[in-house]
Amino acid sequence: MDFTLFMPTKVIFGKQCIFENGHLFKEFGKKALIITGKSSGKKSGALDDVIALLKKEEISYCVFDHVMNNPPLENISEGVLFAKKEKADFIIGIGGGSPIDAAKAIAALYTNELQPMDLFSHSLKNASLPIIAIPTTAGTGSEVTPYSVLSVRELKTKKSFSSPYSFPKIAFIDSTYTRSLPDEVTIDTAFDAFSHCMESYLSLKSNHQSELFALEGINAFSKCISAIKNRDFTDDIRDYLMYSSYMGGLAITMTGTNVIHAMGYSMTYFKNISHGHANTLFVGAFLRYNQSTVPEKTEKMLAILGFKDIMQFERFLLSNIKNEVTLSEEEIREYAQLACTQKNINNSPKKVDQSIIENMYSEVVKGV
Ligand code: NAP
Ligand code: ZN
Repeated sequence: MDFTLFMPTKVIFGKQCIFENGHLFKEFGKKALIITGKSSGKKSGALDDVIALLKKEEISYCVFDHVMNNPPLENISEGVLFAKKEKADFIIGIGGGSPIDAAKAIAALYTNELQPMDLFSHSLKNASLPIIAIPTTAGTGSEVTPYSVLSVRELKTKKSFSSPYSFPKIAFIDSTYTRSLPDEVTIDTAFDAFSHCMESYLSLKSNHQSELFALEGINAFSKCISAIKNRDFTDDIRDYLMYSSYMGGLAITMTGTNVIHAMGYSMTYFKNISHGHANTLFVGAFLRYNQSTVPEKTEKMLAILGFKDIMQFERFLLSNIKNEVTLSEEEIREYAQLACTQKNINNSPKKVDQSIIENMYSEVVKGV
């Protein structure tokens, strides 16, 4: 056995959990900068809850609610300017992966004299502003990862940076904040969480500990399959989805993601397809490609999920997302080339190269 686990985030999981822990906010200073999307903070109820709590604890605050989905670097610069003007002591990121990832980038650039693009090539000298993360989707697990995924126009793709300083100090994980999600987003994000667990479980970098997280997440996801089919998201199901997302976050913190994420980025960047939806398209192709290399793991996973084979599982996934995207030969070539610039392709159990990735795209989204 051989692994290293560094996960310094304090995790508080449960309904209404911020209210029982309001005193913890005070540890980080007198002024909070709340970073959220234009609607997620409000619709989820988390923004109102946090503001009520900050008032009770006599902590002043300001709100940056302009985070875009799949935030581009320009959006991050806007947030940094705002943060510097407001001089906050700590950041509260509320939302899906986009606002929480933006919070990590803004927190890093607040204390380090770097341009946003430098985040991908420089390690952080100074600790980021402390971050408290409150997820309102059950998908990315960003509340417990060191990753921040940003859209980079110059490179025509998404790129992630990570730093030990980017782990949130506290994650308040309350699945009731996902009640307001449209079903489509609940499902896309649930599939993203599953994909993190699956990509990590099969990863070349997987280890005894990461497999425990990944299988726990897959097991939680398996309890939600009929709810997904029936669009019947009870509070218990939302708890399982949130738990699966959290487990996926822990798993990819140890192993990173895999080929599926590398392939999904272009679908989001060029075709505006949501992150979870983009990944889901390639789950079947990835599993088929790797089946002969990791047969026991594939079988064990399918058994937990309750599907007889990859095809049946893929049908379940694809029938629950809008699968209407097509790509031209030229697009497939370009996207495969871009996927090959992502280092997570090296985590595939069976080695991939550009032509294999082109085939995987073709299997799923080739046009006439
Ligand atoms: P998202 O982009 O954060 O949000 C998707 C949509 O859902 C947005 O329109 C958002 O509204 C809305 N929304 C969020 N919570 C809501 C709620 N409770 N009620 C109603 N609407 C709500 O989606 P995401 O899938 O969670 O995050 C995707 C991003 O995370 C991608 O950039 C992806 O690459 C990244 N990611 C990061 C990690 C990591 O470890 N850091 C891992 C995987 C993926 P607003 O526009 O108002 O926010
Ligand atoms: Zn993801």
